[in-house]
Amino acid sequence: MHPLSERIKKEFLPFVMKPGRYVGNELNVIKKEPEGKLKFALIYPDIYENGMSYLGLQILYHIINQRPNSLCERVFLPWPDAEEILKNNSIPLFSLESHTPLKEFDVLGFSLTYELNYTGVLNILSLSGMPLFSQERKEDFPLVIAGGFSVFNPEPMADFFDLFVIGDAEEVIHQVLDSIEKGKKENLKKRELLVELSRISGVYVPSFYEPKYDANNRFTGVWRKIPEAPEKIIAQTVSELKPEYYPQAPLVPFIETTHDRLTLEIMRGCGQACRFCEATSIYRPKREKGIEQILKEADCGLASTGYEEISLLSLSSTDYKNLPELVQRLQKKFYPKRVSIALPSLRPGSFSMEIAKTITQTKKTGLTFAPEAGTQRLRDVIRKNITEENLLSSVEIAYSSGWNLIKLYFMIGLPTETDEDLKGIADLVGKVFKLGKTFGPGKSVNVTISPFTPKPYTPFQWEKQEKINEIERRISLLKDLLDFRNLKVSYRDPLVSFLEGVLGRGDRKLSKVIHSAWKNGAKLDAWIEFFNYAFWRNAFEENQIDPEEYLQIRDLEQSLPWDHLDKGLSKDFLKRERERAFRLQKVEEEKELADEKSPEYFPQPEKKEDELYGRKKKKVTSIPTSTVARSKVRLRWSKGEEIRFTSHLDVLRTFERAIRRSGIPIAYSEGFHPHPRIAFGPPLPLGFVSEAEYLDIQLTEPFSNEHLSRLNKALPQGFKIMEGKTIFTKAESLSSAINAALYKVELSFSGIEIQEKIEYILSLRNLMVSRVSKEKLKEVDIRFDILKLENEDSTLNMLLSVGSAGYAKPQEVLIYGFGMKEKEVLSLLFRREGLLIKRQDQLLSPMEII
Ligand code: SF4
Repeated sequence: MHPLSERIKKEFLPFVMKPGRYVGNELNVIKKEPEGKLKFALIYPDIYENGMSYLGLQILYHIINQRPNSLCERVFLPWPDAEEILKNNSIPLFSLESHTPLKEFDVLGFSLTYELNYTGVLNILSLSGMPLFSQERKEDFPLVIAGGFSVFNPEPMADFFDLFVIGDAEEVIHQVLDSIEKGKKENLKKRELLVELSRISGVYVPSFYEPKYDANNRFTGVWRKIPEAPEKIIAQTVSELKPEYYPQAPLVPFIETTHDRLTLEIMRGCGQACRFCEATSIYRPKREKGIEQILKEADCGLASTGYEEISLLSLSSTDYKNLPELVQRLQKKFYPKRVSIALPSLRPGSFSMEIAKTITQTKKTGLTFAPEAGTQRLRDVIRKNITEENLLSSVEIAYSSGWNLIKLYFMIGLPTETDEDLKGIADLVGKVFKLGKTFGPGKSVNVTISPFTPKPYTPFQWEKQEKINEIERRISLLKDLLDFRNLKVSYRDPLVSFLEGVLGRGDRKLSKVIHSAWKNGAKLDAWIEFFNYAFWRNAFEENQIDPEEYLQIRDLEQSLPWDHLDKGLSKDFLKRERERAFRLQKVEEEKELADEKSPEYFPQPEKKEDELYGRKKKKVTSIPTSTVARSKVRLRWSKGEEIRFTSHLDVLRTFERAIRRSGIPIAYSEGFHPHPRIAFGPPLPLGFVSEAEYLDIQLTEPFSNEHLSRLNKALPQGFKIMEGKTIFTKAESLSSAINAALYKVELSFSGIEIQEKIEYILSLRNLMVSRVSKEKLKEVDIRFDILKLENEDSTLNMLLSVGSAGYAKPQEVLIYGFGMKEKEVLSLLFRREGLLIKRQDQLLSPMEII
């Protein structure tokens, strides 16, 4: 660990709201010795929970760490509470694995996946003590690079980065790192190194180019400043999704993340070509993984993580060629282990009864369909290959197969949209809503409406984006039209879409605006609670830039800020597609489309009519899932210092997953959402260590010591099962039996002072403390929950009540009884040495009441 680590443990972790975001000791974490290695900080400019849900981050972490001479450590944007503590204590932002300050890395590699994370980049650089603009970072600062979805238009962020890597990173990252390693050995100056790097296909060094404007301040293109730099930057595309790109043992966070499951990429690219969709252009061509590879990845991934859910990731999962076979084989293999399967991206029209049948045993939390527009005319304009019948049929299949919630996504402000199209949205939603009613109560529909923002690399890249007041008018019209009882409709904030639109098609002038907005206070813009357009409005004004100009319709012959990047889609082709849209030409026009560079771009839609329109209602039968428990076991376990900042809820999840990884024969509850039969004792407070925690588990076979050693092998470092005993199945539960706990804490007072304070507390009749419960402050007397206090060589031993009948917290004894400050108390290391059952004068261990 870096020497800074000690300060982080003492001055930072005990005081932040969610220390699990910053600890960096997750399951399958990779920690390498830094000597002689190229140090790469992999940075996601949003908080841990979002960054850890991004598959691209796990892929790069794995690929870079596979290189013997490189190490890769992660960095995320701290939440404001943590940011304040870092600033107040002058602690620079650090990597999770070794707590190394960012300045000490060779490369800072950002994943840019969303425009509203741009100010997060500046915040991270600033918290690291680094100059924000690339021109101001001299030789001794790390190289600051970026890749990801958003760098397909890198210009708005061009002033902050030394280089961008455009396209799939899995192969090109090796060339980039090899070149940096070589440059380091040869002591190249930063500029010399950048020249070398710019020779790599897919690498864009923005300082070697400059944007130009004509006399009317019209953008005329990005031009090379040095002859060595390539004229066009060719985006990198991997031809297949090779097994070596994917980690066999992905990182498993202790804290719950946005997508807390095993993510398996089944396909990159999309077989559809909706005209508004940037993803289909950027991730083209469509590349599918073979079923055997996916099954193998599922096998390894589940064995190394213990996840209870697999998510099949792609832009449109139901377009995967053999989806029913894949899902069936996954279910056959993993359902006995109670692993469910999620399909996050379904397309009505390809969600068939066959697929619904194969995923009957998954969690049915909700199904999402995105018709995007309310009328067939507009769906033809945007080339959304869905009819009303497709949608209603898919919804019917979903409801009849046991799903209760349908989520529908629509856009407003699409090219050629009229109020008739908005009425079409209301009609379509009404039909889905009515259909749900025919299946009885409990079926619901959620609708999300987002303003359309034209995106680069799409046939609509030249279109205007509707002004905020017009979007507000359309929202207000929709609000009237969608006034159904119990229908939940959410509207994306038009100001957020406005800013996305400006940044998404912006030029290099916006770097200064982003900088000003950050200085004004913008950060975590992607979070509704922090998004404040005023910071941005002022930033535009300060830089005398009219943001509305970026939303205007663009001349088809005008240069666009991303024209110097080449994704293999000709502008002529996009123009023809645009014309077809406005001619209302239908999808059938395949001949010319097939002549385009990649025939995959517009494949013939595969129609499975017979599967789609089966309207017979299907009775959902309950699946017998219980497993009979044959033994009940009580386990005593310990929690060490390295994981003391893992919360109780996170510990529960960690044990459940360790039990899965260990393969011990755990019994499950009944029903569609079976749970392992595990019951924990009273929670250990965050930050405490313990050698005396308990849990009861039920097994389907008699317990043996072999189960114990398997479980110990599967538990992450810091957790250990100390002993296990079979108990009566009717033994009193831990939570109702345990009523006392013994804590120890070392204090800086002298033995005499401690003794005096103990005597003072024990002489009191009441010791009132303040507690916040359900957002209300209340006063509680804890005096009689202090059962015993003892001094042992400046260590205070406290026997306190726990449980629903009354409890005292050790911190309360120190704050209210010893008069210590909260900050002082939070930095102490508490140990729980016993969880006990107090019966009259007897103190028993939970192992003694079995
Ligand atoms: S189905 Fe359409 S919107 Fe969805 S990813 Fe494919 S092209 Fe884009």
